[in-house]
Amino acid sequence: MAEEEKKRIAIFGSTGSIGTQALDVIEANPELFEVEILTAQSNDQLLVQQARKFKPNAVVIADESKYEKVKSELAGTDVKVFGGSTALEEVADFDTYDMMLAGIVGFAGLLPTLKGVEKGKAIALANKETLVVAGDIVMQKALEMRSPIIPVDSEHSAIFQCLVGETRNKIEKVILTASGGPFLGKKPNFLVNVKRDHALQHPNWKMGAKITVDSATLMNKGLEMIEAKWLFNLLPEQIQVIIHSQSVIHSMVQFEDGSIKAQLGLPDMKIPIQYALTFPHRYANDSPRANFRKLGTLTFEEPDTKTFRNLVLATLALEKGGNLPCVLNAANEIAVWAFLNNRIGFLDMTAVVEKTMDKITFIEKPNLAEYFESDGEARNFAASLLNM
Ligand code: NAD
Ligand code: MG
Repeated sequence: MAEEEKKRIAIFGSTGSIGTQALDVIEANPELFEVEILTAQSNDQLLVQQARKFKPNAVVIADESKYEKVKSELAGTDVKVFGGSTALEEVADFDTYDMMLAGIVGFAGLLPTLKGVEKGKAIALANKETLVVAGDIVMQKALEMRSPIIPVDSEHSAIFQCLVGETRNKIEKVILTASGGPFLGKKPNFLVNVKRDHALQHPNWKMGAKITVDSATLMNKGLEMIEAKWLFNLLPEQIQVIIHSQSVIHSMVQFEDGSIKAQLGLPDMKIPIQYALTFPHRYANDSPRANFRKLGTLTFEEPDTKTFRNLVLATLALEKGGNLPCVLNAANEIAVWAFLNNRIGFLDMTAVVEKTMDKITFIEKPNLAEYFESDGEARNFAASLLNM
């Protein structure tokens, strides 16, 4: 491809697990991509290193206190440096990129991602919380602006890939596979003693701390049910979760004739990241290949919702809609933060989410400001529970 045809990528959350793997994909395909924007919360060293290597037009360090440091480190370069979280929206508003990789974790990703959608940019979406919180607003805006939202989350990428060529065919249901996390098969009497470091050991995937804890509590799968609803316009009863501990089948779609399509591969986030960046094309890479002669057995079982009650709470939020998924997400962010800081136990996370969902006033059809209010109220209430 000629230089001017390269896809210009804006990576939001470039220092994270998704962001760094996206940069690996870009580095392996210099003829396809160039980096236009990089953003980070506080890892100034890695951001500077990435900026020197990929020579973006602009970088944002959201933690304002690190701004001067990043600015002076990049003084001899052409890279424009911005500081503070509002700068995330400012750079998302630039004309100079083609695709945003939404790789920020949590509610903080909502506004920059929405800004990208409002600009009509293509979005490679890893930040599932954006859709959990305000899926109706984001998808409506995407439709209006013809902004394609291409999932990066492996399950949703699998479903998306199964749907290629099926535009006129109705989905009967989607089957979201879940690894079950490190505590598959464990009961509350075990989970009550689980500590941070134990929960951070995921059997199949290496990811950021928040999503790793979410995987251990199954909240991640709950968030993914809500994400699937918005991405694929599904009713709650069309979304089924199944435990598949090998993470080889990344998810499945069942059509009206009873036929089921699945997408498979070894667990490697670079594949869905690359597919989102290159869609509708596929390019060769050196990701490890699945060998069915060595894989052995693929297993499936029903999730233990008595033990992993987050799935029940997320199903309730999925069914009731309104601001309830936003409240669930906010309470969960506080609960996971508290668990990671050894403030509460593993099972307390679910209790914090449940109590917060009971407490915050239900709003049937919130606008963006009301989503922000619900998020704030839920965070304050969840935080007030931590000192008990
Ligand atoms: P991470 O913690 O490794 O990285 C998060 C990135 O966001 C970092 O660059 C960080 O600097 C930035 N960030 C964090 N808080 C911020 C804030 N308040 N403001 C601005 N930037 C902020 O997380 P991750 O594992 O890369 O996950 C990113 C998103 O992708 C999450 O929504 C997660 O659910 C989703 N996801 C991740 C994986 C995975 O394999 N890691 C898989 C599927 C989906
Ligand atoms: Mg996933």
